[in-house]
This record gives sequence, structure tokens and C-alpha cells, in this order.
Amino acid sequence: MAFTLAPLPYAHDALEPHIDAMTMQIHHGKHHQAYVDNLNKAIAGTEHEKKSLEQLVANAGKISPAVRNNGGGHWNHTFFWESIDENAGGAPAGDLAKAIHDTFGTFEAFKEKFANAGMTRFGSGWAWLIIKDGKLEITSTPNQDNPLMDVAEVKGTPILGVDVWEHAYYLKYQNRRAEYLTAFWNVVDWKKVAERFEKANSLVAAN
Ligand code: MN
Repeated sequence: MAFTLAPLPYAHDALEPHIDAMTMQIHHGKHHQAYVDNLNKAIAGTEHEKKSLEQLVANAGKISPAVRNNGGGHWNHTFFWESIDENAGGAPAGDLAKAIHDTFGTFEAFKEKFANAGMTRFGSGWAWLIIKDGKLEITSTPNQDNPLMDVAEVKGTPILGVDVWEHAYYLKYQNRRAEYLTAFWNVVDWKKVAERFEKANSLVAAN
């Protein structure tokens, strides 16, 4: 079964003015589509065709650079579109809010550290909030790697991620990655992040 690109769960202009419609159209329709197409090409006719995206990502370093880059690209972008939404932003609530306070001191301190991970990722990559050994941690990865990969320097379960490739922000923000990362907070879907947090914690508790 070939992988397919799911439609965005909102309109292209739903995240305006924070993320502009043209960026969303090109980012989803061209960049993400290319990762899906190239992933399908990379696994066509191989034993990997029958594997789930999660299995491919977890073993990316053992398979091929094409699967690492394009499988990662497909996973990361799918995760990203689901991390943001219209009428979102604000602050987390409940257990997630408490965990952020316990780990980082304040929500503001967390945001600063997360943005810093995005700012200091040289070139292209991602910044992540993950759960590692039952605790929150901020990390970043190069290119289309992610913390689920066997090749990741810091492994964990991502609950929030931000794309800091220039294609994610260049049309609106040009070289101003910091402004994009500030605007990002206005579209974060904290309900979704909290769902992932609860799910990851329940898996840790079950083990
Ligand atoms: Mn991207």
C-alpha cells in the first residue's frame, strides 16, 4: 500500500495571519507531497512496502537515506499539521500545564527554551517537546529526522514539534525565524498536545 497525503484538517488560510495561506499551500501541497511521493518510490518493490510509517521511521537508519529523509518528512509534517489549528494558541491546561511548570519553571520559560531549540538548529530541521523516561524534554533534530528514529541523538515520544526549515516560513518571514517561532504560539493546538501527553504517559505507566 502506497502512502498518501491526507488533506489539511483546516483551510489553507485558517492560520492567517500567523502562517499565511500561500506558505500552507506550498508547504503541504508541494513539499509534503514530495516527501510522500519520494517515500513511495524508495520502498516500491522492497520488503518495506508492507511496513507502517512508524516502523519505517523507527528503523530509518538501518533502511536507507531516502527512507530516513522522506519517511521522516512524511511523519513530521503529518504530526505538524495536527499540532496546529485555527482558534488555537493560548496556554496548556491540566496535567500538561503542571508538567511544564514542574520541568521548566514557567510557561514563559518553556516557550523561550523551545524557541531557542528552533533558533539554534543550524540549517534545516525541527524543534521538539518530547517525553523521555516519563519526563518532558526539549530537543531538536536535523533535516527530517525525529526523536522516534533509531538515529536520533535524543530519543523520546514527540508531543509538539515545529518545522524550522526555511520553506515553513520564508514567504512571510524571510530570514526572520525568530518572528515565525513567536507567531507559532498563536496556532499551537494545546488540546492535541495534551492528548499526546496523556497517551504517552499512560504507555509509560503500563510498562
Ligand atoms: Mn516542512
